[in-house]
Amino acid sequence: MRLLFILLLGLLLIGTAQVSAQTQQELRSYQRNVIEVTSFVADRIASALTPEERAIQRSLRVRVPLDSSFTAQATQGRITMSAGIGWIFQQLAAAQIAEQFLGFRGCSPEYLEYFAINVIENSDRAAEGRSVNPVLSPGGFGRRYGGACRGFDDRTVFHPDIMNAYAAQMNASLTFLYLHELAHHTLGHLESGNRTLSISREQEAAADRWAIRIMVESDLAAPAAALPMMRFLVLLGGETLEDERRSTHPLGMRRMRDSMRYAAELHRRRGDHELADETLDAMEAAEEFMP
Ligand SMILES: [Zn+2]
Repeated sequence: MRLLFILLLGLLLIGTAQVSAQTQQELRSYQRNVIEVTSFVADRIASALTPEERAIQRSLRVRVPLDSSFTAQATQGRITMSAGIGWIFQQLAAAQIAEQFLGFRGCSPEYLEYFAINVIENSDRAAEGRSVNPVLSPGGFGRRYGGACRGFDDRTVFHPDIMNAYAAQMNASLTFLYLHELAHHTLGHLESGNRTLSISREQEAAADRWAIRIMVESDLAAPAAALPMMRFLVLLGGETLEDERRSTHPLGMRRMRDSMRYAAELHRRRGDHELADETLDAMEAAEEFMP
């Protein structure tokens, strides 16, 4: 079994290895969310796919295991995305919303750094068979550590004025991830046998571009709305987690830039200059905070 897009292998979040009933229940709601978004996307992209791609997409099974790991994979005949991904993207979107709409300037980069460090730590702990640490939501993080997220209440993202932007960010992140995995199938990456590191990187970049193009062509979601997830990838990639030697994914920052520039180019080709400019602005704003 080949793991093509493992952002992170470790267990994440919520308590210890002994999962409580409440956590199981929460995970079940994230599982439903991931399933709903991916089946919605699968329905909506049909017109942007070639007949061959559509046949491949229809033949695939999407599995959403009820666990809290941050794992997405394309394997023979299936795509696997763990339920925990729903939780992770929710936290990333909440921090972004706090920053962008609610005046908590600097909250998102602080939280992202905290989040990435703990994800890495938990992944090491899980690999060594130790229990994982709880990871706080942006609101919990602000209460515990102060800083730019201090005073943020996680529930404010459900305010009617904000809810749409919040849902759009969560959905765009899930959409991008699903399409990236689907791309490994439609582009025939699973049949290509043993891969060198440079072939792997080329395939990852090609999968990113395919995902971005389908997002734009099917009017599914603006790729720029997936920036919270991409900012997180920047922190996980490169020197922090996947070191350049072992990494099968292009370095996070390059990946974020390439994806957003390509999205802007596609928006422009369709005459959507405003959205193209917004995409590049959002990319630059995100880059400001990157190490
Ligand atoms: Zn991949």
